[in-house]
Amino acid sequence: MDTQQFEKLLLQVQKPGRYSGGESGSIIKDKEKVDVRFAFCFPDTYEIGMSHLGMKILYSLFNSREDIWCERVFAPWTDFEAVMRENNIPLFALESRDAIKDFDFIGFTLQYEMAYTNVLNMLDLAGLPLKSADRTSLSPLVVAGGPCVCNPEPIADFIDLFFLGEGEEVDLEIIDLYKEHKKKGSTKEEFLRAAAKIEGVYVPSLYDIEYNEDNTIKSVTPKNGAPAVISKRIIKDMDKCYYPDNFVVPYIEIVHDRVVQEVFRGCIRGCRFCQAGFIYRPVREKSSDTVNRQARALCENTGYDEISLSSLSTSDYREIEPLLNKLLGWTEKSYVSLALPSLRIDNFSDELLDKIKHIRKSGLTFAPEAGTQRLRDVINKNVTEEEILNTCRTAFEGGYTAVKLYFMLGLPTETDEDLKGIADLGQKIVNEFYSMPNKPKGKSVSVSISVSTFVPKPFTPFQFEPQITKEEIHRRQEYLKSCITTRKISLSYHDSATSSLEGVFARGDRRLGAVIELAYKNGCTFDSWTECFDDEKWKKAFEDAGVSPEFYANRLRDYSEINPWDHLDYGVTKKFLIKENETAHNEKTTPNCREKCSACGAACYGEGVCFEKR
Ligand code: SF4
Repeated sequence: MDTQQFEKLLLQVQKPGRYSGGESGSIIKDKEKVDVRFAFCFPDTYEIGMSHLGMKILYSLFNSREDIWCERVFAPWTDFEAVMRENNIPLFALESRDAIKDFDFIGFTLQYEMAYTNVLNMLDLAGLPLKSADRTSLSPLVVAGGPCVCNPEPIADFIDLFFLGEGEEVDLEIIDLYKEHKKKGSTKEEFLRAAAKIEGVYVPSLYDIEYNEDNTIKSVTPKNGAPAVISKRIIKDMDKCYYPDNFVVPYIEIVHDRVVQEVFRGCIRGCRFCQAGFIYRPVREKSSDTVNRQARALCENTGYDEISLSSLSTSDYREIEPLLNKLLGWTEKSYVSLALPSLRIDNFSDELLDKIKHIRKSGLTFAPEAGTQRLRDVINKNVTEEEILNTCRTAFEGGYTAVKLYFMLGLPTETDEDLKGIADLGQKIVNEFYSMPNKPKGKSVSVSISVSTFVPKPFTPFQFEPQITKEEIHRRQEYLKSCITTRKISLSYHDSATSSLEGVFARGDRRLGAVIELAYKNGCTFDSWTECFDDEKWKKAFEDAGVSPEFYANRLRDYSEINPWDHLDYGVTKKFLIKENETAHNEKTTPNCREKCSACGAACYGEGVCFEKR
């Protein structure tokens, strides 16, 4: 299709900028001069995918090699999908507008379970069979990485190989192996068998799964020389790790439209509900010089005037003060503003608050996660009510008037009293504001409480716990609502049906592949979007597949049960997770990695916080 025709079609859709390509920083190569073409697919909209740091890093890294051309592909929104299907336009990459089915690799990043039907839809739009077994030629290889890969079983039938952990090294090793095999004319099977020998690569077709009569897993058996356990990969030296000095700058507004500067990977904390806190262990920091240099290069090359420092808990960065000083040394003069997300309350020092105060004045965001100290101890969120109130008071004195609090509903051992504690904490913050002797005249305080539903995730101490049912989620939401009596506090929730489904897929096994396929064929896509999500279609898919969602989500799992992800190794041992689960039920906390090592297993990587002097 020529450009004119294409542009005419784009006029029929809501946001043509999602599909036009040609943005500053996008990379165009001569396709005749590269050996490998890689379609980097984000199974959600352009605006979300373009905000994703991992995609920016790998896009730049792959394109830094002359022999690889990596292009971007996003899930077309329903309006453009209709146009594509009507006009027989196959899924294409933004840079070349070439059909991705002719590429060497189609690589998905799996950030959340609710994007699985989009993966299937993108394969279908590309004109490829959905199942790995039905795609028999060597290319295109359908590969996937990202956090959901720590339990990829529900989507294993559709993907040829998964990358476990951080992709900077292992992705290139696979591309090199592919080049070798393409040259010698290997079959897909020969390539996959060789790929499975690379650390961090999981080829699901090389594992047979057997089930017990009670539906739990009986055994996972590797075949054709595949390893019994697959270990994730990490980057050891973050100062030497590749980081882009340019981003693609979009024409249309995206979710995070700014320089995103990574500071460190991992988290020292060990909040027991947080999968990221376990699967990215151990903490590995960049030096403040590296962070400062990288951020400055990105600002200069992209023209962005805002930097956001990115990590799981930026205030735990050991060099936060020197870093802020270095950054403030040039950002103020260059009219670049700084944003610091993910701040925790407990180490939010007066000095740091003072520095941030000079940077920007917007709402304060905290994540106490639970409303009572008892439940905060259960989840190992080491913050006290006193600390929260102290921080709020300091912030109010500094001129802040809006506080945003994040909580979770349905945490293990939660009672109505814990839920009431959420409302009470909100009220205490409101009272704190009005008790200030010198509160700003004519200003009022606003506390917004955002409550998501807890979903037990693999590789966390709560991986054994049942998720509460949809009905119970609803009941608890209503109860919490009834506890809030002032208009100074606003409350928002996450949808209970999507949280329940997320709970099924997070800890699901391969038998869920049939459900995903049926749901997709029933018309499910963009399931994380309220306007697209259709619970009835999902219910029908479970019924038709003869699979019970409750078996996966709402059941207490025995410690001895073989979990669908037990053959994957993310450093943290099951023994440690069991110990942490027991400690949670004893309402006891565990010190963070810098206070005391709890021997979680991640020291096996020989790097990071595990080897810092305490
Ligand atoms: S081995 Fe110790 S220091 Fe290292 S990540 Fe685990 S608990 Fe933290």
